[in-house]
Amino acid sequence: MAGKYVVRTFGCQMNEHDSERLAGLLEADGMEPTTDAAEADVVVLNTCCIRENADNKLYGTLGHLKSLKDARPGMEIVVAGCLSQKDRGSIAERAPYVDVVLGTHNVHRAVELLHERRESGRPVVEILEATVAEDHELFPSALPVVRQAGYAGWVTIQMGCDNSCAFCIVPAVRGPEISRPFGDIVAEVERAAIDGVTEVTLLGQNVNSYGRDLTLRMRQQGSDPDGDSVGDVDPGRPVLEDSFVVGDTWLDADNARIRPLFADLLRAIGAVPGIRRVRYTSPHPKDLRPETIAAMAQVESVCEHLHLPLQSGSDSILAAMHRGYTAERYLERLRDARAGISDLAVTTDIIVGFPGETDADAESTLEVAAEARFDGAFTFVYSPRPGTEAGDMADRFVDHQVAVERMARLRQVVERSSLLGNQARVGRTEEVLVFGPSKRDPERVSGRTRQNRLVHFRPPAPMRPGTYAQVQIVGATTTSLLGEFVEVVAAPSHRTRIPVASG
Ligand code: SAM
Ligand code: SF4
Repeated sequence: MAGKYVVRTFGCQMNEHDSERLAGLLEADGMEPTTDAAEADVVVLNTCCIRENADNKLYGTLGHLKSLKDARPGMEIVVAGCLSQKDRGSIAERAPYVDVVLGTHNVHRAVELLHERRESGRPVVEILEATVAEDHELFPSALPVVRQAGYAGWVTIQMGCDNSCAFCIVPAVRGPEISRPFGDIVAEVERAAIDGVTEVTLLGQNVNSYGRDLTLRMRQQGSDPDGDSVGDVDPGRPVLEDSFVVGDTWLDADNARIRPLFADLLRAIGAVPGIRRVRYTSPHPKDLRPETIAAMAQVESVCEHLHLPLQSGSDSILAAMHRGYTAERYLERLRDARAGISDLAVTTDIIVGFPGETDADAESTLEVAAEARFDGAFTFVYSPRPGTEAGDMADRFVDHQVAVERMARLRQVVERSSLLGNQARVGRTEEVLVFGPSKRDPERVSGRTRQNRLVHFRPPAPMRPGTYAQVQIVGATTTSLLGEFVEVVAAPSHRTRIPVASG
């Protein structure tokens, strides 16, 4: 298939990652990347539906693409991702000029569906109900990839989610939790490291429950002869320094069968030669285990950054959300993490205006946020999602203006602690992984510290993305640090290309 393609991504890192795979599939089929939709033969929109404005964004973008397609009728439009999974046939009804609609469970079919569309002369809609767990190829990480940044790689360790947070549409569009086999994940990171990737981010909706379903699958397959030693591992069990995998069978030092823990994965990935930084997102506070904290503390390449979504500081709202922890339990976990991991930066997600949230609930969130001293936060006004439990609580929806005001006050609290956190870095020398030129000042480059803080500094000579440099921190704002170049500690070894645009 000759011609040019562009993939536009809406939404989270999971979607960014799927987009890299879509790009990889199109290139494996002979296409070349462009960043300009006007000259593209295939435009892929990889959609998100976590909040309502994502829907609006998609239909706004489709309207624009329609006028391009009217001018160039050969252009093909593909809509993939969570919103197609949610809306199924209705995208094709609202936008009949879309050529292919596919969902979250069949990313690997994108090119075949384009071929089907050409052969049949009719638009193709294929939405699958579930991923076939046994087929390892269906994990997006197992498909060909074109990485947005050659030095950094996302690796899916788990798909879907078994929780049922009342506000969240993810379980409906991504399905139940399925862990990717341990060996496949490590092998992918090893291959990525050979390609010059030095930073990996492990992706999952609830990474700390990684492996739970592998045990269940072993049980279902009858490979658990005694049934005693498989299952949730005693949190008091000593941390495994070395874990062994024999086929799909996990053994601990006493030869008892266990499931792989997320901590084991961190240790294995951290040991891959060439990987300098390991990040992950997201851990669920209720499942943050001591083993994970120990692995973060002990494995040098695992970065000192924890993104621990709080969602609310009110116990009654947390209960209504079905989050499975109280504010005090959250703060306790945070204290444990900070005690175990030196120099830890902590960021979070918070929703304001969940149905029924009172002024007192909002006040509790401010208090918990202040006590947690977050280094940053993604804050969201609650957005009703069809089919979710909270989406049906229309009688308790919070007035939008009230939610916006609560959000502004919350932002002030978070900005206060993030400024203090950034100011505390002034005077230190930090390792920065450069990702490109600064947006504001082309003479500067921007990058991130191990704590994921944004740093701008002026390099002595042009500096390629993927370079690691020591930088002395000389200034701080709420969102970034200003640095002075000290020295390069590692040069990049990947090939450079940037084919995937962000939406
Ligand atoms: N699995 C992650 C967790 O449990 O924290 C969350 C993943 S979700 C893609 C990212 C964030 O979107 C959530 O942490 C939440 O703050 C926000 N979010 C999800 N549903 C939302 C909704 N209906 N309205 C507003 N924000 C929402
Ligand atoms: Fe959504 Fe909750 Fe699952 Fe996160 S843990 S993806 S918020 S249901």
